[in-house]
Amino acid sequence: MKILVINAGSSSLKYQLIDMNGEVVIAKGICERVGSEDSSFEGKVNGVKYEKKVPMKNHTEAFLVVEKELTQGEHKVINSLSEISAIGHRVVQGGSLFKESTLVTDEVIAGIESLCDLAPLHNPAHIQGINACREVFGKDVPEVVVFDNAFHSTMPPEAYMYGVPYEYYQKYKIRRYGFHGTSHRYVSGECAKIMGKDIKDLKIITCHLGNGSSITAVEGGKVVDTSMGLTPLDGFIMGTRSGNLDPSVVTYLQEKEGWTPEQTSEILNKKSGVYGISGGLSDDRDILKAASEGNERAELAKEMLWYEIRKYIGSYIAVMHGVDAIVFTGGIGENSQPLRQNICENFAYIGVTFNPEENKKAIRGQGGEISGPDSKIKVYVIPTNEELMIARDTKEIAEKILGSDK
Ligand code: ADP
Repeated sequence: MKILVINAGSSSLKYQLIDMNGEVVIAKGICERVGSEDSSFEGKVNGVKYEKKVPMKNHTEAFLVVEKELTQGEHKVINSLSEISAIGHRVVQGGSLFKESTLVTDEVIAGIESLCDLAPLHNPAHIQGINACREVFGKDVPEVVVFDNAFHSTMPPEAYMYGVPYEYYQKYKIRRYGFHGTSHRYVSGECAKIMGKDIKDLKIITCHLGNGSSITAVEGGKVVDTSMGLTPLDGFIMGTRSGNLDPSVVTYLQEKEGWTPEQTSEILNKKSGVYGISGGLSDDRDILKAASEGNERAELAKEMLWYEIRKYIGSYIAVMHGVDAIVFTGGIGENSQPLRQNICENFAYIGVTFNPEENKKAIRGQGGEISGPDSKIKVYVIPTNEELMIARDTKEIAEKILGSDK
């Protein structure tokens, strides 16, 4: 069974074609700047990247480009779209409506639409992607939506409620939803497999650290708390996002600087975090380099990030009354050796031991166990694979309609 995984943004369309027989990626690519004059396509087949300028006025045209790339020319991998059994779409915000992956119907699209206020940058783009996909593939090919926050839907109210008047929860559904759920679900599942244990018997803290970062407490396979909130702005300091702060900081600065809600959102999402503290560096590699060269603000940004990660891990140990494993994933989690060393060494007092050799080896997609053999708490680097998780969910749901021999 071949599954096409789609991640549609407002001006982009990312895809992966995965053969579920062996779970191998046959082709992947991205259409960028869709809707603008200089739209372009970048593909990767058999480990070889190629790119071209292609006009794409909208998402439907982008899908037609993807069809052409998959079925024609030197990078062809299938004969026709009919070889694709089902399509899985990533959707950022499922609110309280969607607690698991689901088959796309008109009702489901209306549900995703009703959540646009909660994810104005993402959900409208996903709907565009789903509709364009239906135009190109037809309605008979099963489409499945996999929600970024469905995995977090098991959080108890004491973890997801904010301390504002209850009526705003009732009126606007203001609460913590969390994000990166597909990644946290994937790596916690892999962690249990590596440990050879049933996830029901484990307490795991998963740290997804990238440009956007979140940490999640997974107890018995269920999320009990996560750092991102109503939006991905909550939590700890990120590449350009502030993470949590005293809400008075916002009202104070709005008064002093005369920020509108849009400007406030722009500054907190795009100009804050590591970027704002360091004075222009958001990439973790640049921060590490500048800090090692004596740049004090880069050093401060680095220390703030590491400190907050330790704080979250510590608080989630308290939430779960213990922890069996800590997992690092995401661009920073999978690559930043000094960060991982710092976190491990800081938890030595609860029995974490550190294996510097394994830590060195775990880089660029190579996972590993970075705690020592005598460590009371296992620490792993597990490269995330959200697309595979989406493809697995899509397969499971599609098979109920198509049968398992497709
Ligand atoms: P996104 O949240 O956009 O998906 P990624 O998960 O791809 O982001 O992570 C991007 C981050 O990973 C960047 O800050 C980048 O600097 C960091 N990163 C990549 N390689 C390394 C490395 N070798 N050392 C430290 N950080 C790295």
